[in-house]
Amino acid sequence: MRCPFCSALEDRVVDTRPSDNDQVIRRRRECTGCGRRFTTYERVDEILPMVIKKDGRREPFDRAKILSGLKKACSKRPVPLDVIEKAVDKIERELEEAGEKEIPSSRIGDAVMAALRDIDDVAYVRFASVYRSFRDVNELMAELRNLVEDRERK
Ligand SMILES: [Zn+2]
Repeated sequence: MRCPFCSALEDRVVDTRPSDNDQVIRRRRECTGCGRRFTTYERVDEILPMVIKKDGRREPFDRAKILSGLKKACSKRPVPLDVIEKAVDKIERELEEAGEKEIPSSRIGDAVMAALRDIDDVAYVRFASVYRSFRDVNELMAELRNLVEDRERK
């Protein structure tokens, strides 16, 4: 976002909140050049970041894709659809609030892993084994061990 005072292009988001109209988000930004603050109003469908894929191509953030990935990981598991949708909402909201223009696809993968870790162990391992493409059984076992140890600490 170009600073209206000094035209610098770098800023940080200091506050994000929905405006009266649900489709618009109000953001307070602070210019990293001159330090002055300004407000922007952004349409919800324009503020989600572009996703940078491994090969460098960009594609728009795709909620449906994340939802179907989570559903697939949770298939035949006792996970209500409601829980999956809430997890996707949370991931989407966090990206909106981060206010970045582009993010690597690994950020989304990591967020999905973190969500599944709390939702269902089997779904987590399913997703992780594909996403991280474990090189061998030992690596997978190490991941499982971490998971069990984390659970025991809770
Ligand atoms: Zn400025």
